[in-house]
Amino acid sequence: MTDGARAAGSVALIGGGPGDAGLITVRGLELLRAAEVVVADRLGPRSLLDGLDPAVEVIDVGKTPGHHPVPQHEINRIIVGRALEGRRVARLKGGDPFVFGRGHEEAEACRAAGVPVEVVPGVTSAIAVPAAVGIPLTSRGVATAFTVVAGHEDLGALPGGAAHTLVLLMAVGGLPGHAAALIAGGRPGATPVAIIEDGFGPRERVLTTTLDSAAADAAAAGIRNPAVIVVGDVVRLYAPGR
Ligand code: SAH
Repeated sequence: MTDGARAAGSVALIGGGPGDAGLITVRGLELLRAAEVVVADRLGPRSLLDGLDPAVEVIDVGKTPGHHPVPQHEINRIIVGRALEGRRVARLKGGDPFVFGRGHEEAEACRAAGVPVEVVPGVTSAIAVPAAVGIPLTSRGVATAFTVVAGHEDLGALPGGAAHTLVLLMAVGGLPGHAAALIAGGRPGATPVAIIEDGFGPRERVLTTTLDSAAADAAAAGIRNPAVIVVGDVVRLYAPGR
């Protein structure tokens, strides 16, 4: 900044997609490359951080389950604070910023402080991770609808039927309880389940099981976060190796 003139700072809330560097949008990449400050999550296309100009300030607020995350109010304070200093901030988030990403809270924090904010949608892991291994969430004659739900919600109350696909995010730790709640809610124990661990990442693998056996099979296989869990007949369309 020169002569006391304050450059107008801004925040771009960028959906980075599920991890593959090719699955960020053109607009997202453009704003990432134009940023002076990048505030990054644990999930999302972290390899893109390596390609940034060394002058860019990279702040890692990545959350690992079980470890102390940077609290949301602190993330809000960082992005708003840097923008108020006149800097172009890219808040790089995993998947889509508005799907379990607290993106709306960050956008509101910016607006409350008078900071211009642009929200760039992203490819959500809920859809992309199953797709990457060949599992569609809807398919003619198999499933006509899907629900994306976070593992900590009340799963017993979800819409039922084998033709209604469920996609569970953040649901590995609580899987025994989730599977039991879904069975108690009316889904047959034989309902097919696919657990896709680390979609697009080096540990990517798929475990297929049933609601009855999901918890034991996941534990035996050592399934860890992040993982997308798909429940419903679409899992029968999974064809390994194709
Ligand atoms: N906004 C993100 C979701 C954030 S919640 C989105 O739209 O994708 C975080 C959860 O997303 C993880 O616990 C996991 O369930 C899922 N997830 C995100 N990226 C993933 C990946 N590459 N592989 C498997 N699951 C992933």
